[in-house]
Amino acid sequence: MVNKHIVANEVFYSCEICGLVYNSMEYAKRCEEYCKQHPGTCSLEISKYAVGYVVRENNGLSKIVFYKLFSFK
Ligand SMILES: [Zn+2]
Repeated sequence: MVNKHIVANEVFYSCEICGLVYNSMEYAKRCEEYCKQHPGTCSLEISKYAVGYVVRENNGLSKIVFYKLFSFK
């Protein structure tokens, strides 16, 4: 299942398997399909659209690390 995140009123979607974050649900779904079929590898064709990744912390919380800064409204 693709996870939905809301950060500063922007919606992001992450692949539950590899944790890559996309700003389109379409790419998150494609990533998850790929990750299911090819465990442990990532498709460059898909992951190049990632905007960041999810970090799970020991206390059970998760945060998103973004590759680049967004100008949030
Ligand atoms: Zn993935």
